[in-house]
Amino acid sequence: MDYNRLAEILFPGIDKTPDFYEEKYPPRQLKEGARVTRFAPSPTGFLHFGNLFTCLVSYKTAKDTDGVFYVRVEDTDQKRKVEGAIEVMLKGLEVYGIIPDEGVIGEGAEKGEYAPYYQSARKEIYQSYAKSLVLQGLAYPCFMTAEELDEIRASQENESIKGIWGKYAKHRELEIDEIEKRIADGEQWTLRLKSPGTLDGKCRFDDLIRGKIEMPENVQDVVLLKSDGIPTYHFAHAVDDHLMRTTHVMRGDEWIASTPIHLQLFRVLGFKPPKYAHVAPIMKEENGGKRKLSKRKDPEAKVTYYAEQGFPKESVTEYIMTLANSNFEDWRRMNKTESIDKFAINLKKMSVSGALFDMIKLTDVSKNVICTMPAKKVFELSYEWAKEYNYELASLYEQDTERATAILNIDRENKKPRKDIAKWSDIPDYISYMYDETFVPCYELTGNATPALAVKVLEKYKDVVNLDDDKDTWFSRIKGMCEEVGCTPNVKEYKQNPEAFDGHVGDVSTVIRVALTGRTNTPDLYSITALLGKERVISRLEAALNHYKEEM
Ligand code: GLU
Repeated sequence: MDYNRLAEILFPGIDKTPDFYEEKYPPRQLKEGARVTRFAPSPTGFLHFGNLFTCLVSYKTAKDTDGVFYVRVEDTDQKRKVEGAIEVMLKGLEVYGIIPDEGVIGEGAEKGEYAPYYQSARKEIYQSYAKSLVLQGLAYPCFMTAEELDEIRASQENESIKGIWGKYAKHRELEIDEIEKRIADGEQWTLRLKSPGTLDGKCRFDDLIRGKIEMPENVQDVVLLKSDGIPTYHFAHAVDDHLMRTTHVMRGDEWIASTPIHLQLFRVLGFKPPKYAHVAPIMKEENGGKRKLSKRKDPEAKVTYYAEQGFPKESVTEYIMTLANSNFEDWRRMNKTESIDKFAINLKKMSVSGALFDMIKLTDVSKNVICTMPAKKVFELSYEWAKEYNYELASLYEQDTERATAILNIDRENKKPRKDIAKWSDIPDYISYMYDETFVPCYELTGNATPALAVKVLEKYKDVVNLDDDKDTWFSRIKGMCEEVGCTPNVKEYKQNPEAFDGHVGDVSTVIRVALTGRTNTPDLYSITALLGKERVISRLEAALNHYKEEM
């Protein structure tokens, strides 16, 4: 076969050679051990939590080694293209601090020496490599129609290897004159790899997450270029990851099955293969079993969910690290205030069966993250969130931003801060009693507090309460009331002799707490009282008093 003639028939307009591109995209000058990773999304506009997870791992892998993380858009399927998708996806990553060093950085915008990073702009590159394979007799045109391929597929029901190989590779040996004639007649063709694989051949590789993998070698003459000259994922992956000098390919484990194809392609193309880390999907527990976190069924599968709920980015990234590396939590215990950047990710410690998404765990992680934030930061972040997702909260804040910050500072910025807030959308309820607009009275009592005791306590307290008191004075005032209302200021004493009292100082406080907040459990009551202000305090005490009087 005259491969030169064949190559000219198939690719008459292609005059560049692989050498040209090898020179144009030389190996990167990075320090020893630096890893080059990438995110290679199709522009669907949907960012799955699993994408963010894999991206964060890829990004950190690059950053931990002073490497490069870039974004390549896999837009060869123009039918699936969604307007504005790139912007949505990049914004989604940016929220979590993932800013690509290189590649696609905005809709139609790219940066870096290895451009273009849109696959749709790389047609000539793919064709140049395809032409060189034809020249070497390693690829051939196939004219089989969709119907013929369907027939073959149907006849292969009992074959262990499907697809185009062996006797099914009908057009491997077509005569060049026939090829020329078919093309002249306008027949459609795809370019197939002439697979050098053998049936007893093995493909072995060391997956960075799963360890050693052995699979049958690829024997299929896979399609490299579709009839419109656009590459398949397999071919584009080999050409792009080689030319962009990717060292570590982190991708979903659904690609493991095709890795023998990819390694074979790297070999026939004369490329050094990258290292692979196949990431298992994020799982979710359901009815005692496990299933993949689903875009259709689970709102939390969508990355925008976390922003909408008001999980700060720090919480989400922190949680993702606990999912990614089982040793992260130990590291965190030892390095309480350290930035995540200091934690070196270890791919070997990633789950093979799929990390389990757990909302309760995320909530816990987030409470721990938020409780250490200064009030000012909590205010600023939650205000930003509220302006977008909860106008009511934003306008409450705007009444007096200093007061709002002080409210958020109750029981914060100390050694044992409270952990009431897991996400910004918890705040409206958490602070509802601090504003008349959202305060919902509830006069249910607990412990020894009864309506009769409440009437006595409230009558007294409303006369003695003084908002200028410091905390100790405030509390001594409450203790000081105890005897008069038939209680003891000393809880121990009450326990020793419960018959002698109607309750103790805790019950007295409960009555006041319930009257002021409608709740039996709140942060520091002294701070709440001070921030409610005299007018609100008195009117709530009176309202409660009337209520209990009626109840008696
Ligand atoms: N576009 C491919 C996907 O979204 C990329 C896989 C890869 O990272 O190589 O599945």
